[in-house]
Amino acid sequence: MHVVTASDFEQWRNAARQCMLSNLAPEDVLWRDGREACPGLFDAFEKEPAPPRANQSHSPTVPRRFMELATYVACHRTPGRWPLLYRLLWRLTHETPHLLDIAADDDVLLAARWEKAVRRDAHKMKAFVRFRRIMEADVEHYIAWHRPDHYVVRLTAPFFADRFSSMNWSILTPDDSVSWNGHALMFGAGAPRSAAPADDQLESLWRTYYGSIFNPVRIKLKAMRREMPRRFWPLLPETTILDDLLQAAPARVQKMQSYAEGWEQSAIDFLPPQRDLNSLRAASSGCRGCPLYAPATQTVFGVGPPNAAIMIVGEQPGDEEDRIGAPFVGPAGQLLNQALVEAGLKREEVYLTNAVKHFKFEARGKRRLHKKPNRREVVSCRAWLESELAAVRPQVLVCLGVTAAQTLAGPMFRLSDQLGKIFATDFCEHTLATYHPAAILRSSPEGAGAKQQQLIADLRRAGAFVRKIN
Ligand code: SF4
Repeated sequence: MHVVTASDFEQWRNAARQCMLSNLAPEDVLWRDGREACPGLFDAFEKEPAPPRANQSHSPTVPRRFMELATYVACHRTPGRWPLLYRLLWRLTHETPHLLDIAADDDVLLAARWEKAVRRDAHKMKAFVRFRRIMEADVEHYIAWHRPDHYVVRLTAPFFADRFSSMNWSILTPDDSVSWNGHALMFGAGAPRSAAPADDQLESLWRTYYGSIFNPVRIKLKAMRREMPRRFWPLLPETTILDDLLQAAPARVQKMQSYAEGWEQSAIDFLPPQRDLNSLRAASSGCRGCPLYAPATQTVFGVGPPNAAIMIVGEQPGDEEDRIGAPFVGPAGQLLNQALVEAGLKREEVYLTNAVKHFKFEARGKRRLHKKPNRREVVSCRAWLESELAAVRPQVLVCLGVTAAQTLAGPMFRLSDQLGKIFATDFCEHTLATYHPAAILRSSPEGAGAKQQQLIADLRRAGAFVRKIN
């Protein structure tokens, strides 16, 4: 058995070439990871591979793809990378020249997985390294500390040299470090995090920059969490403002949408600095965010306990709600009251509100007939609903009808697909959508009964869910 040591790709390549020239099969070579092994542990067994045999005097030739794959796999943290690469090299040259095309092969599969992990780690390093400035003998030097999963410093160093070619910088990691002096890269040993000092001034500049480029329309929280693992957060100055930016994001999205569509105002322009329910309710009474305020009597804001476990959201106030100034007090409200009782819920324990806070109607003589709010009105008004949701933070959110559901779950939401199901929205992990009582009242006698039973069943489900999670 020949014991061979490799710490990086170049060392492995030289050693592998020698082993191949000596015609050593994979099972005849014990690969030692130079990064892991204690010095001297294997010295007693280590010896140079035997000299090349007569018929093996040429260096092996391998596909270019293998060299690319090996460059990445060599950076994987597992010590198993060296024997895997040698096994692949041996099989490519002795058994199956097209081995890399056999995706189901165990060795090929494993190498591909490790290559992917290293590529991903290198990508993260390029994205998340943040330099801090220090002064060394009146010369600016920028230092970053990063903790990659794999040995990707050498892989990514050319990227930083290219990107920050005019700066003197060093990137320190627990395993390796690299410095750039404007001309050449210099690699060295790893360093602890304390070796990279903090620089508040540079960090605050970065935070300002990040806040200015942050585009709330593009936020995808799941992807952000996946791409920006928690362990990197303490190293990134911008993460200290991320919560604030995310909290303000829905409002900024609406603002951008309003401007893009040429609207001059929306509810956002009337939000108070304090976002508790009383402040919101008072401020909403003066909202002029869309034309609906003009013919209506008053703003109809939500009612209910500020810590309600269940929030019910309808479409908009009706004729009686508009006159009285409270939601769900007309015929639809009576039907909802009845359904709440049958579902075992108390109205006074539930927070009731609407997606749109002003009554939209068409006048027919003395009568005012309900008109469905259009998209502009719904979007304009959403800041009030989102503020109510942020203040109450319900455990279960019940949307009555399509308008409420699409306001909170997106325009592609289909009530018929989701009836009776609990699903997550950005506003509540446990959201339900069911029939609006006004729609039940408008239904034919045959259809109304079934819809009413569905409403009761969904409200009962909401109540049972709250009891279950408390
Ligand atoms: S409907 Fe909403 S956005 Fe429009 S004026 Fe009334 S409260 Fe403001």
